[in-house]
Amino acid sequence: MTNKTSTNFWGGLALWKKILVGMVLGVIVGAIMGPSAEMLKPIGTLFINAIKMLIVPLVFCSLIVGVTSMKDTSKMGRIGLKAIILYLGTTAVAITIGLTLANIFLPGVGLNMSITDPNVAGKEAPALVQTLLNMIPKNPVNALASGNILQIIIFALGLGIALTLCGEKGEPAIKVFESLAEAMYKLTEIVMKLAPYGVFGLMAWVAGKYGMDILLPLIKVIAAVYIGCLLHVLVFYTGMISFIGRLNPIQYLKGLVNPAAVAFTTTSSSGTLPATIKAAREEMGVSKGISSFVLPLGATINMDGTALYQGVCALFIAQAFGIDLEFSDYIVIILTSTLASIGTAGVPGAGLIMLSLVLTTVGLPLEGLAIVAGIDRILDMARTSVNVCGDLMVTILVGKSENELDESIYNKAASRLDKT
Ligand code: ASP
Repeated sequence: MTNKTSTNFWGGLALWKKILVGMVLGVIVGAIMGPSAEMLKPIGTLFINAIKMLIVPLVFCSLIVGVTSMKDTSKMGRIGLKAIILYLGTTAVAITIGLTLANIFLPGVGLNMSITDPNVAGKEAPALVQTLLNMIPKNPVNALASGNILQIIIFALGLGIALTLCGEKGEPAIKVFESLAEAMYKLTEIVMKLAPYGVFGLMAWVAGKYGMDILLPLIKVIAAVYIGCLLHVLVFYTGMISFIGRLNPIQYLKGLVNPAAVAFTTTSSSGTLPATIKAAREEMGVSKGISSFVLPLGATINMDGTALYQGVCALFIAQAFGIDLEFSDYIVIILTSTLASIGTAGVPGAGLIMLSLVLTTVGLPLEGLAIVAGIDRILDMARTSVNVCGDLMVTILVGKSENELDESIYNKAASRLDKT
């Protein structure tokens, strides 16, 4: 009877809570067992291997679907192009902020974690020009087989564009990729069910080996991500609204309170879409046409908060494992994260899977992923809010440039919000 109740209790718990429980229990068990907790590591390795299994097919299919779902772009032409350039440009800025903050906070320095995968350590970083040249795969099948993520991204983007241009003839293949992408999302869901146990195993190993020294670095990661998110919205977005949009940034900040709160609690930018659209129309005065095109596009391809988080976490993991990153690695992180954001779904925890992609691309150990996974929900709340604030900022700028922003509504946002 008690057993049944406890199974129900565990089964009914939301995944992120289970992961948190896994992390806390892992730390406790590891602290008690000491170095012998290494025997629990294989549970974590199982989870890491399952994630590795997902990366290539997930990225390939979801990027193709991401591109083909932008079909309307050709119809909308100029507006779509403006939105995409702004979305990708601001994402690159976000990840740069993340990388900078991780260099200031140095959350992983001093952890001295050891690398167990010999393929990861001591990787020679190719020169920057070579990295850029190598982005185009000479043989896409080879890129897929060897898991060269940047090459896979470029090929998937190209194939997606080509399928869209094929019109009716491209439809059947698009349907196949859509269905495969759905299956990969399902498989991700299944694999993520292993996360609490994987996180438990890896945290026990980490805590057993390094003791409680692991906690302070995690707090630093949280601080760096939150400070980065605040800076990105309060300085960069308001700057864009003021200097490019020539609008009052305070109205923008007041108007985004509601959608940001929904995003913070749901950790899903797709789920927040109704609140975002409502705010864009009613608080910010963006026309129906622009908001119903630019915002859903943003919820799919714009992930500034996620990119910022990936910058912080990638460097945290590099520091923790004592791996020096070259300048070209930074460029690769920025490129991968920005391009991969096109294929990142606006659902809880998607950023964590995409982090594994960035780690793989620059050759960082995936073990670091499990350490971050324990605090992922806390980070997801901040990054999803930024994702949504970014969608709104771009929508306002596009609306303004198209003369589809009713400034009388926009300027009233503050006073109306005060009344509610
Ligand atoms: N939860 C985020 C979003 O919905 C994606 C992520 O996990 O970073 O925008």
